[in-house]
Order: sequence, then structure tokens, then C-alpha cells
Amino acid sequence: MKSLQDLTRPNIWSLAPYSSARNEYAGKTARVFLDANENPYNAPLNRYPDPLQEELKVALAGVKGVPAENIFLGNGSDEAIDLPYRCFCEPGKDNVVAIEPTYGMYKVCADINNVEYRPVLLDEHFQFSAQQLLDACDEHTKLIWLCSPNNPTGNNLQREEIVKVIEQFEGIVIVDEAYSDFSRQKSFRHELAQHPNLIVLNTMSKAWGCAAIRLGMAFASTEIIALFNKVKYPYNVNLLTQQKALEVVKDKYEVEKWVSTILQERSRLMEAFRMLPICKEVYPSDANFFLARMTDAQAIYNYLVDLGIIVRNRSRIQLCQNCLRVTIGTRTENNELVGALRQYK
Ligand SMILES: *Cc1c(COP(=O)(O)O)cnc(C)c1O
Repeated sequence: MKSLQDLTRPNIWSLAPYSSARNEYAGKTARVFLDANENPYNAPLNRYPDPLQEELKVALAGVKGVPAENIFLGNGSDEAIDLPYRCFCEPGKDNVVAIEPTYGMYKVCADINNVEYRPVLLDEHFQFSAQQLLDACDEHTKLIWLCSPNNPTGNNLQREEIVKVIEQFEGIVIVDEAYSDFSRQKSFRHELAQHPNLIVLNTMSKAWGCAAIRLGMAFASTEIIALFNKVKYPYNVNLLTQQKALEVVKDKYEVEKWVSTILQERSRLMEAFRMLPICKEVYPSDANFFLARMTDAQAIYNYLVDLGIIVRNRSRIQLCQNCLRVTIGTRTENNELVGALRQYK
């Protein structure tokens, strides 16, 4: 790996960390808050929230097995996807490499930041070769994007190939594990100590059932976390989100129940799809959705929409011709979908 300073944009490297009104008396016990021009009424919403979400990070550290100092929290993974561009990529000069097809936000953020995006096509099993990704890099490549389990294909990427990329690439490797709670593969967030150039992403939007509160996580070295903290909006995670997330983290038994129910439903729904004459192939899934190749994805999609059932048409994506991406719902919802597809003519 190049040094973190060599990888970081010079203007970001030289930023002083933001200091909020509340940072400046740290350590003392305060009783009267007349420092931040807040309204003294309407507690607790009148006070600015903790800019570094210390209490929530400590709770998450326990659940995720990662020290609190290695955790960044953001306004959804969206924020954790945008920040590496803003920290490391000089607009109009640097580039990033990613597998293709994958989650669309990596390219959206590249375009917004005016950073060249270099997609490298997966093979017919939706796997990638580390060497091919590395061959797509040049001296201006700052980031490599991996997503495992991958969206929209649903499968885990091969672990040995991911390790090769992390060990051989000179820049930063981001492994998005938004769906890892549905998979048996070991998370890369436990390997931060061996890999200073690794960022692992997680979210409360999928297994944790909290897409509405917008809470994403990045796990990385303390040096990378410090960079993110300098660049983020000071109060990027609001009080209501911090409170709700703490409640959910303390009730993780509920999350485990959801995940095991969803996994049971996933095998049942995939099996039902395999039996449909209009389904040509169901691809293996390590996530809470699967990809299915149909006879005519657009027509089937339209038919379902007319019945008020919405799946994702991924037909126009490379390697996904005639594919629908189906999220696992409740047993009743899944039965409704299968019932409708059995009636399709
Ligand atoms: C759904 C998803 C996310 C979650 O994004 P949030 O902004 O945290 O809701 C992240 N990465 C991938 C690959 C996803 O599919």
C-alpha cells in the first residue's frame, strides 16, 4: 500500500478536525449549556447530537466485534460510499475500479465527484479475477469497489480473490457487506489489523430492518476513520437515528429471528421459482434477494406491476438479460408472488 498521505487529496490531508462548541470543555462535567445558541426549551430535541456518536459506537462495537475507534457512522451507507471519493480522489484526475454489475451508488458518486469509473465485467458465475481488476488500475487508481454478497447478483465473491486484491493493490479497497448478515462467509471487518488499506461497509437498512432511519457504517483503520470524521458534516447522524439505532442494537435477538425466517423463505421461494415454466434459471444467493432469469422479464415485470406486486427488473444490466431481482418478503407476500406467476400466460 502507498502511504495514506500519498493516497489522500492534499487539501483533505491538511484540514484541521472540526471543533464543535461541545468539544472544547471535554472532560469537565457541564450543567449549564449556554455555548451553542440552542433553545433552552423543548428537551431533548433542543440540543445538538453527539457529533461522533460515542455511545452508539460502543454498543455497535460489542455486536460487530470491532473496536469503537475503528467505526465511522454515516447518513446511510450512501455517506460512507461518497466519503472515499471526497477524501482520496482528485476530480478530473484520479479513477476507481469496480466489478460489473454491482450496486449503482459507486458509479453515481464517481460521476458526482467527476472521478473516472472503470467497470470490470464479472464472469458467467458472477465471480471476478483479482488479476483482471489489478490490470485495470494505473497510477491514478485510488479505490477498488467490491460488494460481497454482490447486488444485484446475490452471491458472495470468492474470498481468496478479495484477499489478493487487498494485498496487491496500492490504494484503498472497499468491501461492501450490506448483506453479510444473510451469509455464512466470515466478514472482512475482523481483518482490519492485517489490512490498513481496507474499508468494510455495513448498514442498518437490510438485516436490521431500519432503512428509514438512515444509518450506515464503515469499519477501517483509525487513520482512515479520522479522515472521514474531518470531511463529514459535523452532525451527520441525527439524535432520533442514534436513539433508535441504540434500541435496535440492544434487541439483536429480534434481528436474528428475522434473518432466520428470511433465510427459510429464501429457499422456499427460490425452489418455487425453479418450478415455474417461465423461469429459466435461479442464481445462488447469499443475500435477502435472488436473481432469476425469466423467459421475458419485461412482460412478466409489467404483469406483476398491474397486480400491485413490484420486483426489480434488471434486464438492461450487463450479464442480467431477462433477469428479475426478487427481494424475500413475508410468507404471505412470497405466496402472493408465486401465485401470480403460476397464473402468468
Ligand atoms: C441496500 C444497499 C446498501 C444500503 O445503503 P444505505 O444507504 O445504508 O441504505 C449498501 N450497499 C449495497 C450494495 C446495497 O445493496
